[in-house]
Amino acid sequence: MSTNRDRVPMSEAPRTTVWVLGDQLNRSLSGLVDATPETHRVLMVESSAKIHSKKWHIQRAHFIIASMRRFAEELRAEGFDVDYRRAESLSAGLQAHRRDHSPAEVHVMEPASWNGLALVRSLDCTVVRNSQFLCHYDEFAQFAHQRSLTHKTLKMEDFYRWQRTRLGYLMDDDGLPVTGQWNYDHDNRLPPPKDAATAFTAPVVDDLDDLDHRIIDELRPWCTGEEPMGMWATTRAGALRRLDHFVDVVLANFGPHEDAMTTQSWHLAHSLLSPYLNVGLLHPKEVCDRVQEAYEHGRVAIASAEGFIRQIIGWREYVWGRYWSWMPEYRTRNDLQATMDLPPVFQDPDRTQMKCVSDVLKGVRTRAYAHHIQRLMIIGNLCLTAGVEPQQVNDWMWANFIDGAEWVMLPNVIGMSQFADGGMMATKPYASGGAYIHKMSDYCRGCAYDRTKRVGDDACPFTTLYWDFMARHEQRFARNPRVAQQVRAAFKLTDLPQVRERAVEVRARLAAGEL
Ligand code: FAD
Ligand code: SF4
Repeated sequence: MSTNRDRVPMSEAPRTTVWVLGDQLNRSLSGLVDATPETHRVLMVESSAKIHSKKWHIQRAHFIIASMRRFAEELRAEGFDVDYRRAESLSAGLQAHRRDHSPAEVHVMEPASWNGLALVRSLDCTVVRNSQFLCHYDEFAQFAHQRSLTHKTLKMEDFYRWQRTRLGYLMDDDGLPVTGQWNYDHDNRLPPPKDAATAFTAPVVDDLDDLDHRIIDELRPWCTGEEPMGMWATTRAGALRRLDHFVDVVLANFGPHEDAMTTQSWHLAHSLLSPYLNVGLLHPKEVCDRVQEAYEHGRVAIASAEGFIRQIIGWREYVWGRYWSWMPEYRTRNDLQATMDLPPVFQDPDRTQMKCVSDVLKGVRTRAYAHHIQRLMIIGNLCLTAGVEPQQVNDWMWANFIDGAEWVMLPNVIGMSQFADGGMMATKPYASGGAYIHKMSDYCRGCAYDRTKRVGDDACPFTTLYWDFMARHEQRFARNPRVAQQVRAAFKLTDLPQVRERAVEVRARLAAGEL
């Protein structure tokens, strides 16, 4: 692989290497911010073991690889000697770099994952503090400790208010929320609007170039999903254009329909910014600054600005802090003892007549994306109520979502969506029947199943599995104040024995790919 070694004679070569990982693609992050072409060489490693570790969605694999290669080119254009290696593993790449360049030191910013940190520590690197988040996990741990001295629980909302106060977003000079209200969440639960097909602006799409096509050709033989079509940016400039588009055109609509799902619009007013935030092409601070500015200039209402900033400085950073406080045991949690294998519909969404599941899984196949409520209330809900092993759910999402990363997936998948952590992340299981899906979407109209039925051949699988889930986990949830009522309601169903029989059949047909 090209290393640009010839540009600088070895006697004058920089002695310090900055190792830039594939999710640290930003010149202003702590690993690179003080580096210069005269004093530092850059190492980047594409690990074939990582690339071959899963059957990745081709858009996801392309996004990571194209973003890494383009970032290397940008650094070269700045004058850096970039040693871009394709190696069996990260450590093999580093070893080969050391052999060829003999750097006095290798600096690397703290990786975002538990295993990544353990790896760089074991490789005798100088580990620089991670600056990709607004709250480092050390600060989160201190906050959590302080709070535990005075309170029994720590909820996302507590952390969010602490973040807002210390970061100053949407706060007045007295340290209070600008409008006197912290949270506009209750305004943000509307079903999809009737004009959903035209109400939401289409995302930015760019043409693919030769590099994209070369990477796609490399990946095609062993990836899944539909090929990239230019929607996911692979440079900082592209990510910044998408941020502009979001703030200028989409943000004003963000919020009210956050929990809605519709066949008319796969994106609604979601930002589609998570992949860029997760690999460093965007920084959470610049994203929140832009949103705050739009609010201050009267371009968007408080509910939209607050709703979005809460997702970033609240949920996103809360998830990151929680990941570090709960690892490494957290990744193997399976408190509901769910053992079913991931059903075949996840490999082939044409195999189901459930309109909601089909729409969401086909969407993932087409663009490696589903929005939050589809992840939680369709994919997650199906796996939770059917009893699919949580680690298999996590693995599938990791391989298929454009924005997958362990730190964000484990609390969201193992915790929030599969309740496999016994309630550390969420105070209730996110299980629902067809009634909720019908309320928040247009999926049920024209579906082969009937959302109101829980028994019979055409009973909605979600409705059947929901009641069975409540009965199956009676012991665990009977005293949970947020679900006890549903557990009691399950046992009042006169046809509960038939519902539970039908649930056995639903699971068997799901496992056979026949539902
Ligand atoms: P928007 O709806 O526009 O939200 C704005 C931003 O808020 C997102 O870009 C994201 O950075 C942040 N955000 C919102 N909710 C969360 C959350 N719960 N956790 C972390 N960040 C959040 N997010 C990922 O980045 N990668 C994943 O692999 C991932 N897997 C998920 C799996 C499940 C089962 C669930 C329930 C959630 C998952 N999320 C994941 C969180 C969230 O669904 C995505 O961040 C969001 O859908 C990304 O789309 P968007 O950028 O259009 O989000
Ligand atoms: Fe999904 Fe059931 Fe509605 Fe069909 S009826 S779309 S399976 S919730």
